[in-house]
Amino acid sequence: MTYQRSRDRMLTTLMAMGITHPRVLAVMRSTPRHLFVDEALAYRGYENTALPIGFGQTISQPYIVAKMTETLLQHEPLETVLEIGTGSGYQAAILAQLVGKVYSVERIRQLQRQAREIICSLGLNNVSLRYSDGHLGLPDCAPFDAIMVTAAARQIPPVLLMQLKEGGCLIAPVEEEPKKQRLVCVIRHGDVFVKQWLDGVLFVPLIPGDLA
Ligand code: SAH
Repeated sequence: MTYQRSRDRMLTTLMAMGITHPRVLAVMRSTPRHLFVDEALAYRGYENTALPIGFGQTISQPYIVAKMTETLLQHEPLETVLEIGTGSGYQAAILAQLVGKVYSVERIRQLQRQAREIICSLGLNNVSLRYSDGHLGLPDCAPFDAIMVTAAARQIPPVLLMQLKEGGCLIAPVEEEPKKQRLVCVIRHGDVFVKQWLDGVLFVPLIPGDLA
C-alpha cells in the first residue's frame, strides 16, 4: 500500500490551512509519514494530528511541521539547521530534503535509534543524529543558519540563541502559561534578538537535565 491518496488528502488539508510553499508541499507529498509511527498506527499516518511514538512522546501534527518548516525557509539559503527533539525523525527527514545539512538532537536513545533506521532507509544522508541534551545545543557544529525546537519550554535556552549565525532564525514553542503554548520565531541581529509570535500550539515538554 503506497498511501499516496492519503498523502494527497493531507496536502489538500495543509493548503486549506494556509501552507503555500511549493517545496514544503512537495516533500510532504512524497515523504512516507506512516513509516515514522508504530505499524499499528500506520493507517492514521496522514491524519492532521500528532500521534504517539512511545516513551510519552509524539510525532508533531503535519500542519505544524509544514508551518515551522515554511517559516524557516523564509530565511533561505539554509546550509545548516539544528533540530532539538528528533522524536520519530519525521521533521528531520522533511528538513533534510530542503536544506543543506540537518543536525538533530534527542535525549531518548531508543527513539534516536529508530529515527536513524528510517532516515537511513530513505537514503537521506545529510542528517546527523546526536544523543544529547538539547539545552546545550550542538556547540561543536555551531553556528547554524536556523534552529528548530520541537519541544516546549518556558524560555528559549539562551545557549541556543547564541548558536545562531548572524541573521539566523530560531523557531520554538514557548509555554506562556500551563497548557498555553505559542510558536515564536527569533531572528538574530548581533546581540539583539527580534521575536515574532505565531500560532498557538501544543508540544510535549523540553525535559531539563539528564539524558534518558
Ligand atoms: N520532531 C519530532 C517530534 C518531537 S517530540 C518528530 O518529528 O517526530 C519532542 C522530542 O523532544 C521527544 O522525542 C523528546 O524525547 C525530545 N526531548 C525533550 N527534551 C529534550 C532535551 N532536553 N534534549 C533532547 N531532546 C529532548
